[in-house]
Amino acid sequence: MKEIKFLDNLVSSLEKLPGVGKKTAQRYAYYIVEKMPLEHVETLAEELIKTKKNMKHCQCCGILSDLDICEICSSTYRNHKQIMVVRDTKDVLAIEKTGQYNGLYHVLGGLISLLDGISPDDLNIDSLEKRLDGVEEVIIATSFTPSGETTALYLEKILKKDHLIISRIGYGLPAGGDIEYVDELTLKRALDARKVSK
Ligand SMILES: [Zn+2]
Repeated sequence: MKEIKFLDNLVSSLEKLPGVGKKTAQRYAYYIVEKMPLEHVETLAEELIKTKKNMKHCQCCGILSDLDICEICSSTYRNHKQIMVVRDTKDVLAIEKTGQYNGLYHVLGGLISLLDGISPDDLNIDSLEKRLDGVEEVIIATSFTPSGETTALYLEKILKKDHLIISRIGYGLPAGGDIEYVDELTLKRALDARKVSK
């Protein structure tokens, strides 16, 4: 029997979201069309377009922000002598939620992965080297996956400078896991026990 076409265009748009399979997409599509008031649908559509158009990467650290220079980079309350290097903005949000870190960040936008053809040139690394004036410590907080390790080793090598401490957090973080899921205590321990590379 031929499958009945039901809200096909909307379903295939929703299916593009991570974790949304065909069944869920159909449920959402049905809900939007049948149950959601038109004004809510309009607000959702407007927000999607507005947010997508307005968000950019902070020119200094690479965090997703609606400002040219993000709130963290421009804050005078943060420690500008410390930069924590992370994979993406999701990592920053996770670390900020723990309230355990008060320095600045640098978002790479990915990790070096030879398998996926991602080289250092594809990542936001040049701009990190350019913002090291006055910085005392770079904390590398990439995951303990093969690409996280490769990226950390590469950064340790290129950032090596006389007055710069390069450290790596790790203790207590799940091996192969993402910092995205780390809780406050685990991150505090990981920060306290960070290892300085020689
Ligand atoms: Zn920034």
